[in-house]
Amino acid sequence: MSSTIRFKVVGEAFTKKAIEVPNPKERPSEFFAKYVFNRQKMSKYLPEDVYLKMCDVIDNGSSLDMSTANAVAAAMKKWAMELGATHCTHWFQPLTEGTAEKHDGFVEHDGKGGMIEEFTGKELVQQEPDASSFPSGGIRSTFEARGYSAWDPASPVFVIGDTLMIPTVFISYTGEALDYKAPLKKALKAVDRAATAVARYFYPEVRKVVSNLGWEQEYFLVDEGLYAARPDLLMTGRTLMGHDSAKNQQMEDHYFGSIPGRVVAFMKDLEIQALELGIPCKTRHNEVAPNQFELAPIYEETNLAIDHNMLIMSLMREVARKHGFRCLLHEKPFAGINGSGKHNNWSLGTDTGIQLYGPGKTPVDNLRFVTFIVETLMAVHKHNGLLKASIVSATNAHRLGLGEAPPAIISSFLGRQLTDLLRHLEESDDDEIISLEGKQALSLDIPQIPELLLDNTDRNRTSPFAFTGNRFEFRAVGSQANCAAAMIVLNTAVAEALTDFKSRVDALVAEGIEPMKAILKTVRQDIKTCKPIHFDGNGYSEEWKQEARRRGLNVETSAPLILDEYLSAATRSMFKRMNVLNDAELEARTEIKLETYTKKIQIEARIFGDMCMNHILPVATRYQSQLIDNVSKIKEIFPTETSTRINANNMQLIEQISEHTSFITENVERLVEARKVANVLPSERDKAIAYHDTVAPLLESIRYHIDKLELIVDDELWPLPKYREMLFIR
Ligand code: ADP
Ligand code: MG
Repeated sequence: MSSTIRFKVVGEAFTKKAIEVPNPKERPSEFFAKYVFNRQKMSKYLPEDVYLKMCDVIDNGSSLDMSTANAVAAAMKKWAMELGATHCTHWFQPLTEGTAEKHDGFVEHDGKGGMIEEFTGKELVQQEPDASSFPSGGIRSTFEARGYSAWDPASPVFVIGDTLMIPTVFISYTGEALDYKAPLKKALKAVDRAATAVARYFYPEVRKVVSNLGWEQEYFLVDEGLYAARPDLLMTGRTLMGHDSAKNQQMEDHYFGSIPGRVVAFMKDLEIQALELGIPCKTRHNEVAPNQFELAPIYEETNLAIDHNMLIMSLMREVARKHGFRCLLHEKPFAGINGSGKHNNWSLGTDTGIQLYGPGKTPVDNLRFVTFIVETLMAVHKHNGLLKASIVSATNAHRLGLGEAPPAIISSFLGRQLTDLLRHLEESDDDEIISLEGKQALSLDIPQIPELLLDNTDRNRTSPFAFTGNRFEFRAVGSQANCAAAMIVLNTAVAEALTDFKSRVDALVAEGIEPMKAILKTVRQDIKTCKPIHFDGNGYSEEWKQEARRRGLNVETSAPLILDEYLSAATRSMFKRMNVLNDAELEARTEIKLETYTKKIQIEARIFGDMCMNHILPVATRYQSQLIDNVSKIKEIFPTETSTRINANNMQLIEQISEHTSFITENVERLVEARKVANVLPSERDKAIAYHDTVAPLLESIRYHIDKLELIVDDELWPLPKYREMLFIR
């Protein structure tokens, strides 16, 4: 049986293994958060005083004393054991891509030769996992292995299988953050502080501002049998070779199309498990590319939303396998069709229920609205290069600027009405009345700004940072990324912009200017300053690249060079002032990002070289021999003139195969050489640049010849499942 047929059979086997669609008897409202120790469970399992203390810790960040921790741990243990848990783990987000956990049993000696189930406040609050193998960017050398994880009470614990999972931060012994959560929490605190201070100009009763995040997770599903036959998918998460399928997304028939039954079964299963873990799943649909799908929950507080995204990514991978699929979270698993992103819908809201990016009913609301929009644009303008650095990776780089996903230049789309409003504001003077046509009529005779209704529908899919009615949507985040990298930068940058804004307004007020007028004056100035970041046109066009350069925006496209932004003076100063990351932490993080970049391409290059030598070349040569055989046999039995005519086609193929195989052979050698040269370079930055400049392009140029061979070589001999086989789930 030929290899291709074998793969097809494996695929069929899974297809036929009918997976029944889970059909819970209860409604989602009944099983939602079944496995989460949320407030409802806390109030049931904790004594009232301890419960109130915990609410204070969660809501106001007040510190947790040991006796409260002990009481909480005891209640958690009781609850978790009722669900069958026997172990607990601190669950954290190291600077690799996933999450990490180390499980400990709930057991202790009872002093009488037996065992008792035990889980103390100390175990809940802090643990010291051996941290020497997690990337630290040189902060903590391996002999000083101690890092510790500390409970994050703002994210509730949950049970998966037999384990109580405790979300934690992960810090080095000397106090530097070794994870995403620690700086994220600092960034959220910074934006809370800065936004609360500004919101209080308008609403003095505001005490707290919360950052909200609603992510939209895109992913691909492929049949597990086919996946297993692709060493590149297995090792790198993407196909390093493979010719376009005759049909892919050109019919645009997949987007919002009906979802195949087998996929529906997977989605339902996933959603039920996610809902039980407290993830408020809401939307599911097909995406643009074949076999591409999306899942989005209702937005949540950013810290919790990120934990939930990390959790859903691991759930997706696991549930997919149960259904005979592999879930691909890579940003670009298949060349030539759309890749996957993770739109980050982001907003700020007050403890009094006001959406700071939502237009309101009163003049004060509208000035607040304009203020927050403009100061966010100030942040995005000032740190556009850093925002790009926050989303760049070896894998997401395949998506950026390729005419499908956000371009590699950060700009902001505002839509017609908001654009008009900002222009009117900029051009008006303090006492002028401004009006916009139709029902969006708006006058700016401070303090009267009537209700502003924004059209939420004019979307621009090419914009990396679009205003969408009551929030911004940061669309450049990669599908497998931890959203925290982007959220740390965005929230800190907005915190900085609001802090600067407030000090300028306060200075005007000190000169005797009435506060609302001082705000308007400052906003008007800032509209001018941040203008270059505003772009409503086609982000994929060549003209925009030129224009963006003229506007002074960051137009760098090389991932390692984009990462330089993490170490710029503006970045260092921002993170230091906002107390989010210090210089050592920034340097360490950048080092890790560069190292990860290099390793990803290094692995790709290795597996690619193997596949060329072990899969592609032998098969191409075998097919060529068959052709040669045929040609010489024809020569034997026919007169020269006839045989020459009959053999013409095959002779041409034989020649083409030789051209392709010799290109591949020569360039695989060059690839190995380029890697060797890059590997001995002294700094991580130099290595990453060399991998970007010399190794990655070779993968592409060799691939071209492999994909051509795929079209020539007998399908029965071709050793890898093809795009058309992988991309259409039956
Ligand atoms: P799309 O952008 O594809 O139209 P949706 O309208 O479904 O998607 O919204 C995407 C995400 O935006 C959801 O997670 C939703 O909860 C979230 N979202 C809606 N309003 C806000 C907001 N004010 N702040 C943050 N996220 C929000
Ligand atoms: Mg969206």
